[in-house]
Amino acid sequence: MVGFGKAIALAFMKASKRDDLSGSKHIIVVSSISDFDATVAETRYFWSWFIFGSIMAIETRRHLWQSWGFCPRHAWLHAVVECEIWGGRPFATSILYQDLIERAARVVDTGRVCGILAARRLRPQATCLVCDYLAIAKDVSADESNTRRCARVNLRSRVMVLIAQSEPSWRLNSCDLCGGAGKVVCRLHLLAGDGRLDRALAAYLCDLERRLGLLIRSMTWRGPQATPEIQASWVEALGWFAGWSFPLAVVSA
Ligand SMILES: [Zn+2]
Ligand SMILES: [Zn+2]
Repeated sequence: MVGFGKAIALAFMKASKRDDLSGSKHIIVVSSISDFDATVAETRYFWSWFIFGSIMAIETRRHLWQSWGFCPRHAWLHAVVECEIWGGRPFATSILYQDLIERAARVVDTGRVCGILAARRLRPQATCLVCDYLAIAKDVSADESNTRRCARVNLRSRVMVLIAQSEPSWRLNSCDLCGGAGKVVCRLHLLAGDGRLDRALAAYLCDLERRLGLLIRSMTWRGPQATPEIQASWVEALGWFAGWSFPLAVVSA
């Protein structure tokens, strides 16, 4: 069995060799919410990720900047695992995606002048760390604790409530092309050639980054209470980066 640390190192090596990283190819078409069931290996990866505080490592953060976070499936599973078996709420998720939204807002602002070349900067330049790990650690052990955690993750009991409660707010800013009937084209559809990098999108991402900051503060000791618009911000951030398949499947389940 490949150890977690070694697998991460190998994943970095593999990532540097990949050349086809177009994010638009990752638009997920789901038939039911069970398509987002985590495997034991995925659960084990994220459990180790939170235990080791991997996001704090500068090499990991650099990789996440290049890859624009995780692939769509693992962006959502990161949040689900955190909500179900780690902190009970999307705290680390919000910190990571506030960082990425702030960077994306700058790219979009530049793109209003530089057009299609800037749009390409929203494309991942590195592979998803979880996908790379899974390709290497095929023989991950399905021990009892991992199996039990995986079952809890797939109940989605907390994340379903969080997403359903904030639906009136995030629905407005969902991607119509993803089926969300909202007014903001997601990154994946921008990469597929739909939508434009314009002033409205730049302003939306700046405001989303601001709301994520307030959401993070609301989750800290004696932090301010979050309004519905602030509570919806983490769903909107993941929706914009990773497409809307997951929350739409949740509310129609
Ligand atoms: Zn992935
Ligand atoms: Zn979309």
